[in-house]
Amino acid sequence: MRCELCGEEIRGKAYLGVVDRATLILCERCVKRASKVYGPVGGGAPRPAPAPRPRPRRARPRAPRWEEEVVVDYAERIREARERMGLTRDALAAMLGVKVSVVRRMEEGTLMPTLDMARKLERILKVKLVELVEEERLEGGELEEWGETLGDVAIFKG
Ligand SMILES: [Zn+2]
Repeated sequence: MRCELCGEEIRGKAYLGVVDRATLILCERCVKRASKVYGPVGGGAPRPAPAPRPRPRRARPRAPRWEEEVVVDYAERIREARERMGLTRDALAAMLGVKVSVVRRMEEGTLMPTLDMARKLERILKVKLVELVEEERLEGGELEEWGETLGDVAIFKG
């Protein structure tokens, strides 16, 4: 282990002390110049491990994010509702103002209707196709970032 102030190999006791606001490993000679001494350090860890950053779990007050989404089983719901109403695909397509292939692909599940289209279908078929879901995708990242910031503040104060 070397003294971080004079650079010489430390043979006797090594100390952890503050010199010019920097925390350094110091030899017995240099420790006299430290404004603050944390005491002798062993050979194991040259510096104390940095204090764990506070990770506040309380969330930043935020409005719940609600998003409208087309239900996952829209295909079945559209087909069942259309058949229940006795409509052919052609008739439904005409009511929607789209090609019959669009209706077919929606019923096959290969074409997810847009929100506008889903709302039209809801009105025509009297079926629920749009639901509100809570948007949670961003939560983790935002909290992480916030914790990071608080941690920095705490460290600068110390
Ligand atoms: Zn020294």
